[in-house]
Amino acid sequence: MIDLLVAGGGPAGLATAIYGANAGLDVVVVERRRGTLDKACGEGMMPHTVAHLDRLGVAPKGMALRGISYLDGEHRVDATFRTGTGRGVRRTVLHEALLHAAVSAGVRFAPGDIGEVRQDDHSVHAGGLQARYLAAADGLHSPIRTALGLSQPCRDQRRWGIRRHVQIAPWTDRVEVHWAPGSEAYVTPVADDCVGIAVLSSSRGGFDRHLSEFPGLIERIHGHPHGPDRAAGPLRQKARSRTAGRVLLVGDAAGYIDALTGEGMGLAFGGAEALVKCIAAQRPGDYDRQWRTLTRRYRLLTAGLVRAGSVSMIRSRIVPAAQALPAVFAGVVNQLAA
Ligand SMILES: Cc1cc2nc3c(=O)[nH]c(=O)nc-3n(C[C@H](O)[C@H](O)[C@H](O)COP(=O)(O)OP(=O)(O)OC[C@H]3O[C@@H](n4cnc5c(N)ncnc54)[C@H](O)[C@@H]3O)c2cc1C
Repeated sequence: MIDLLVAGGGPAGLATAIYGANAGLDVVVVERRRGTLDKACGEGMMPHTVAHLDRLGVAPKGMALRGISYLDGEHRVDATFRTGTGRGVRRTVLHEALLHAAVSAGVRFAPGDIGEVRQDDHSVHAGGLQARYLAAADGLHSPIRTALGLSQPCRDQRRWGIRRHVQIAPWTDRVEVHWAPGSEAYVTPVADDCVGIAVLSSSRGGFDRHLSEFPGLIERIHGHPHGPDRAAGPLRQKARSRTAGRVLLVGDAAGYIDALTGEGMGLAFGGAEALVKCIAAQRPGDYDRQWRTLTRRYRLLTAGLVRAGSVSMIRSRIVPAAQALPAVFAGVVNQLAA
């Protein structure tokens, strides 16, 4: 019997598979999309996310990120990472690097849809395969989370994200978060000749409509070619628990707050490592508590920032306050970076 079946071959699924294979487990990944996978993503990795990549033996090419800047047209504040550098990496580059590491570690792949999941006391059946455990890494709208009754309704304001790559030499070695009244645009250098711009907003709409809130950015990228836009959302997804018997949720499937603090992949990798440790110790029931502990700081800070940003009077003061208190801003950034 397979030790660990993984549904979804995104960053969470591949990291789980690599950690699993490195722990001596027989691992099979079921992914329904073919080829190199792309996705709406800001593509900025915090220093702790890069540390996970090192542990996974994955070194995708990208641009070093030295910190985070907040800007609103009149104000600007910069914070430098104290615990190393982050990295901006295109999702396609990251996927190929993770895939290569997974194959080298001995992970097997079964292309297709995971389909219905059934389980008993001893095993899980899904995708025509039988395994001791199933890691559901099937993304933000995880069909497995819903089918197992683990999804929880979310009453918070809904937000969406849309990303575009612009062919231009990066003008910064930080992730720039530009704040406007109705949205945030964050700019991440991802290659010598490319920046990604991800716009987050509580209103839906095309990239150009959202970008009209950021005249400084429009001026900066005017006339430069760009790739197709990719969108995702609603971003906030809640799970009542990360486990149901022998099925464990990981990555966005485990629950997601928002892309504003660029933490999704770091949490996916951290969750993957914890999940594998729990399975290897045959203590899957410990995983939910470990996941909550591991993600608590991020969940509190991100939810707090998103909530503050949803009140217009507070929103307009976020960047001026950060500029007035740069040490506090740097402290918060480094809470998220470590
Ligand atoms: C606009 C935006 C900006 C972001 N910016 C950042 C950032 O700067 N930094 C950061 O760290 N994070 C960022 N994130 C978050 C990050 O993109 C996610 O946290 C990350 O992609 C989660 O990986 P995952 O593997 O859980 O999900 P995904 O990458 O969505 O992968 C899920 C996989 O499961 C597969 N799948 C789904 N259903 C099935 C099925 N039934 N059978 C088989 N396969 C299936 C899908 O095809 C997919 O490949 C951002 C997100 C958004 C939306």
